[in-house]
Amino acid sequence: MTDTVVQKPAVCTHCGCVCDDLIATVHDQRVTQIKNACVLSEEWFLTQTATPQLRFEIEGQTVSQQQAIDKTAEILSSATAPLIHGLARSSTPGQRAAVELADRIGAIIDTSASTCHAPSILALQRVGESTCSLGEVRNRSDLVIFWGSNPLESHPRHLVRYSGEATGLFIPNGRADRTIVVVDTQETETSQAADLFLKIKPESDFEVLWALRAILSGQSLEQSSVGGIEIKQLNDLVSRMKQCQFGAVFFGLGLAHGPLGHHNVEALLQLVTDVNDHTRFIARRMRNYGDVAGADSVLCWQTGYPFSVSLSKGYPRYNPGEYSAFELLTRRDVDAAFLIGSDGLNKMPAAAIETLKTIPTIYLAPVDSDPPFVPTVRLSSGTYGIHDYGTAYRMDEVPIPLKPIFPETVPMDETLVQSIIDQLD
Ligand code: SF4
Repeated sequence: MTDTVVQKPAVCTHCGCVCDDLIATVHDQRVTQIKNACVLSEEWFLTQTATPQLRFEIEGQTVSQQQAIDKTAEILSSATAPLIHGLARSSTPGQRAAVELADRIGAIIDTSASTCHAPSILALQRVGESTCSLGEVRNRSDLVIFWGSNPLESHPRHLVRYSGEATGLFIPNGRADRTIVVVDTQETETSQAADLFLKIKPESDFEVLWALRAILSGQSLEQSSVGGIEIKQLNDLVSRMKQCQFGAVFFGLGLAHGPLGHHNVEALLQLVTDVNDHTRFIARRMRNYGDVAGADSVLCWQTGYPFSVSLSKGYPRYNPGEYSAFELLTRRDVDAAFLIGSDGLNKMPAAAIETLKTIPTIYLAPVDSDPPFVPTVRLSSGTYGIHDYGTAYRMDEVPIPLKPIFPETVPMDETLVQSIIDQLD
């Protein structure tokens, strides 16, 4: 125990903003204060310690770390159709080790993206996307549209750091130099802070986006409104988009989910492509889970595909749906599951949870994460950026280095997965 109080730079990986301007005050091996954290992350930071209570268990009984590793290797060695899922609460080193393990045992590997922006990824694979870094948005964007997303709730510092009040090279007055538009089916905290709110009817995004494309291409529409929005409002939005210096549209699951999710996103990306005939305009996803963007990137560079990849034949095959974790579990198509840094398990269908209760399941995650069932084997790790170095990808796919707040004394998922690989037959 020491009375020394030190301040350390910290990076938050709680949402896709990956804010890297936090300052942690550390006293007596604990974070006692955290500067610049938002309402989503402050409480979490204040629970972080140098010596978290790691849990290694088999069937709910405490065992040694080595026993948990041995049992995991035994399960994976005897599985004929293993699944590895998660990776959003990990970081590049752990994600890379997970892909190596999947390759070694011929597993299907899937990330939290398959329950999040999978429709968006399918759309951008079909029509491409115009993108930029959040730094460019901060420095250049004079028009920002949030479509189906409510960042003031989901990404609380997005507007302050990049897209709202943030000042930049060509936006010296911040919010005063920027017009913010929200398109959503309901009023939100962000719509209340916007200059313009277009409240559209549920599941009418596709029609509204195609109407905007038609107006942009010079067509005149006969109807008086589309999707609950008057044509004159759509005309106004199109002229704002054409006349801005640099426009950015950030879209969320409000656009990407639902029966037409990938068609909606495809329509938005095509609209943005069209607007680039007039001015610079970009589109970006609002990534929710911690490092789901990193999981996409690591899987892409290791297998060529971002999620839902089968390595069972010794080479990568990509098929969302067929190789998506929740669907596989619901169909009972796997005989062992290894959940590594899984986020969003609360969205898992009841049938998938039931499967997890009937097959050998290994759960590896930071100590503050609890599964909605008792796994066969449970292993805990430290958290990247708290207990070890790592890399997290921001929602714009910019890699942000993570440095530990505490000395590196806690095993990380990379080390544990490597130990499991070493134990395999
Ligand atoms: S906006 Fe996101 S990354 Fe930034 S401090 Fe809040 S939760 Fe963390």
